[in-house]
Amino acid sequence: MIIAERKPMAEISRAVAPYKKVLVAGCGTCVAVCWAGGEKEVGILAAQLRLARSAEENEIVTLEATVERQCEKEMVMELRDKVSEVEAVLSLACGAGVQTMADVFEDKPVFPAVNTTFIGMPESEGVWVEMCGACGDCYLDRTGGICPVVRCAKGLLNGPCGGTRKGGKCEIDAGKDCAWVLIYRRLEKQGRLDLMRQYNAPKNFRAVKRPGRVQAVRA
Ligand code: SF4
Ligand code: SF4
Repeated sequence: MIIAERKPMAEISRAVAPYKKVLVAGCGTCVAVCWAGGEKEVGILAAQLRLARSAEENEIVTLEATVERQCEKEMVMELRDKVSEVEAVLSLACGAGVQTMADVFEDKPVFPAVNTTFIGMPESEGVWVEMCGACGDCYLDRTGGICPVVRCAKGLLNGPCGGTRKGGKCEIDAGKDCAWVLIYRRLEKQGRLDLMRQYNAPKNFRAVKRPGRVQAVRA
């Protein structure tokens, strides 16, 4: 899933400073799961905004709404009545959601209220870790299902680097496991250690064309 973090309040306040009535719009999928932009966070941000503006004696009216997925135009369209009532929108969705909202309501300024950080998974209560950098040329078949692109601090496709610390920790950050030690152990468990001797050619970055576009054929 996509992981995001709320922007600092000062930055959000600056973005909506010229407006008296805004819609605070959440997304009920990834950003809700990582506690950044779901219905609850929408309510908290709207209340914080009203309080901050009230303290400045410059009241702001906030409408609140959360759609299931802000990265789908049909779902964003559900907000048209509310958007028509406000001067601007504060979106707590990921970058894709913010842009979908901005495309659908081109005449309204749409501001991001979160920073989209990475594709990851929950590791423990309140902690999410990066798992994939959407590189467009997946190596997981050769690495025991552990991504060297984002889980190795140097993104090494042939590892380890030689600096791995005792206990299998990364030389860049002793708090993190060396991805290549994890890969070794996983391949060992699977009886596939021969893959550690196989050279992985430099990555073909042309596999990721910007802007990305995938046309899937329904089975
Ligand atoms: S190799 Fe590329 S596509 Fe595969 S998990 Fe890593 S970043 Fe994602
Ligand atoms: S110690 Fe391991 S994870 Fe850290 S940079 Fe070297 S190979 Fe990558």
